Amino acid sequence: MKPLRIAHLYPRDLNVYGDLGNVITLRKRLEWRGFRTEVTAVEPGIPFDFSAVDLLFGGGGQNSGQSALVDDLLERGDALRRISAEGVPMLLICGSYQLFGREFAAAGRRYPGLGIFRATTTVRRQRMIGNIVVDSRFGQLVGFENHSGRTVLDPGQQSLGTVRQGFGNNGRTGDEGAVTGNTIGTYLHGPVLPKNPALADHLLLQAVRRRYDVDVLKPLDDELALRAATVAAARPQGRAVSIRPRRRRLHRLGAALRGL
Ligand code: GLN
Repeated sequence: MKPLRIAHLYPRDLNVYGDLGNVITLRKRLEWRGFRTEVTAVEPGIPFDFSAVDLLFGGGGQNSGQSALVDDLLERGDALRRISAEGVPMLLICGSYQLFGREFAAAGRRYPGLGIFRATTTVRRQRMIGNIVVDSRFGQLVGFENHSGRTVLDPGQQSLGTVRQGFGNNGRTGDEGAVTGNTIGTYLHGPVLPKNPALADHLLLQAVRRRYDVDVLKPLDDELALRAATVAAARPQGRAVSIRPRRRRLHRLGAALRGL
């Protein structure tokens, strides 16, 4: 049996808060079931054949790093939109979720996104940080969020779920993430998949169904994963953190030095 091919989008530039753990989880859950896997990195400036991809993963990043990747990503836009429409499962976390929307606005500039999610993201001063719990069709999802971007879904764009604790897309509308076909975007880091095996298996089932015509995944013992999720869900809620105070401190420091 040929290996299942996982594409990892910009692993050097988009990889924060343990996002690499999602790729490890995908691989391990396949290998435990007897499938072989092959992970290939998509790196800026290097051509990549997306028609050979069975599952795609992208992690989070910094606003500046994301902005620098926009041109490279847009060049791959047609190929990515095509495989998304064909049903290739994809998981995009935080920074890459934002870039798969219609628009990403940061530092006074607006960048077009891939438009796979009908959603726009605007970066604001306050960061939304903390543990997050979401009700979704994959059951309760737990994770950790840390983002300054507020994502607003267009009318009709399906979300991943409803925030029970935390901020989610923007801290206001109560929704979290977005789902377009088999393409899922979310703010949940942590990484998200080790603690949320139902979400991992949903992605994997779509991939093996398309590739090998397999309709059922052998159950795994997820007891430890579910215990970790229960502990994470009970942790205190996050808070919005303003980055202003630090600036003020720097300003005061500057004024003090000028006064020397
Ligand atoms: N740079 C984005 C933001 O702060 C994404 C952050 C992340 O990926 N954690 O909104």
